[in-house]
Amino acid sequence: MRLVGELKKLPGIGERTALRLAFHLLKSPQNVTALAESLCEVRDKVRPCSLCFAITENDPCAICSGNRETGTVCVVENSQDLMALERSNAYHGVYHVLEGALSPLSGVGPSALRIGELLARVESGVVNEVVIATNFTVEGEATALYLTRLLKPLNVKISRLAHGIPLGSDIEFVDAATVQWALQGRNVL
Ligand SMILES: [Zn+2]
Repeated sequence: MRLVGELKKLPGIGERTALRLAFHLLKSPQNVTALAESLCEVRDKVRPCSLCFAITENDPCAICSGNRETGTVCVVENSQDLMALERSNAYHGVYHVLEGALSPLSGVGPSALRIGELLARVESGVVNEVVIATNFTVEGEATALYLTRLLKPLNVKISRLAHGIPLGSDIEFVDAATVQWALQGRNVL
């Protein structure tokens, strides 16, 4: 069945799950129509926002065209990270999606990311603070360092998300690297 083959291309879907999903869809034709329509909608309507490069159906996106603090720009690797920050309800500025992180080993250099567009936004003078929220991975850290070097001369406040011990965890069981990060990023009370 072609459908099983297509489903198996999705992340986390193996042969058995693909078969289960395919038989489930066969039993409910109205779900098939809704699913097929929504897939075509994604393909036809969803594109990056021309201001922040977040995935959106309307350009500019709801965040860029909403009532947000446009002087604060949070830099994230991708739209999923943006959504996670939005779920926190703790951020009221706008975003800038890089569409990846620097990874020399995988051939991802600065020109493959939306770094030029970020610098242009900052140079336009409307940005007071850049919050760097790239991931705490080797690539994310390298990207944060690279951005900091480029942004420093532009006379803008630069901050990085705090990293440390997850809420609800016991310090005894947290790995050494995380404890080290938490100490370096400690807050004065
Ligand atoms: Zn936007």
